[in-house]
Amino acid sequence: MDILDTPQVVQDWRASLPAARKVGMVPTMGFLHDGHLSLIDRARELVPHLEGDLVLTIFVNPTQFGAGEDLDRYPSDREGDLAKARAHGVDVVFAPRDPALMYPSMATWVDVDGLGDHLCGASRPGHFRGVCTVVAKLFSLVRPDVAVFGEKDIQQLTILRRMHADLFLSGEIVSMPIVREADGLAMSSRNARLSGQARGEALAIVRFLEAVRERFEAGERVRDGLLGDVEQTFAAGRLDYVELVDAASLQPVTVVEGPAIVAVAAHFGGVRLIDNLQLHP
Ligand code: AMP
Repeated sequence: MDILDTPQVVQDWRASLPAARKVGMVPTMGFLHDGHLSLIDRARELVPHLEGDLVLTIFVNPTQFGAGEDLDRYPSDREGDLAKARAHGVDVVFAPRDPALMYPSMATWVDVDGLGDHLCGASRPGHFRGVCTVVAKLFSLVRPDVAVFGEKDIQQLTILRRMHADLFLSGEIVSMPIVREADGLAMSSRNARLSGQARGEALAIVRFLEAVRERFEAGERVRDGLLGDVEQTFAAGRLDYVELVDAASLQPVTVVEGPAIVAVAAHFGGVRLIDNLQLHP
């Protein structure tokens, strides 16, 4: 497994590959868990060893964190990540050794209109601009045939698909379902920062989404009936948002008539967690 630590070296590596060789890419911020590994395993299936190379990127991208967010507290475990990457057949890890290498200048930004103003975009202004900009840079450097992202960050995935189409970026985007802990909590690098008490309280998200699923399966299609009393449901935490949105436009809907998503963001013990449930009528 090669470990590359500057954009220039990645460009050189990519340029040296035979044209027929495929490339898979899995972008992450590291502190790898089974959710990340499911993306890596999928990418490895889509780009088998004999056919191509699998690139894992590990970069805690500063431009997607706002002032006062947890950039300086974001967990990291370089050696652990490299061991997991090796065990899951990654060929190349791109881990920029200095954020400044990814941002030698700050004049060009990628912003997707319309999809990023609400949900996470409302409480994290500029977040998706940072995400889109860094992912566009990674696509330019790696020129993947396939890039795999998780459905846990469903708004991010929707925005990145739009950016990918609009900018004619290389290859295709593939998504993978949310991987959960045994008790249902969506895996997240941030879970490591939850205290024991907050970890227990965070299960309110799981119970909530389960309740929504049951109501949906029982035939409920109206927003308020599906979501119930959210203030009470999330009383132990600090709710950022709960919303029922159209799966394509991400705009709020009051009745589920096509594919829809219930998206949640809430703080427990100072840690912001997100989760979602896809509804297919
Ligand atoms: P992150 O390191 O949090 O930026 O996430 C990197 C990629 O892993 C993104 O495409 C995420 O959507 C995906 N991911 C994170 N957590 C999970 C999970 N629990 N299940 C599936 N994919 C995930």
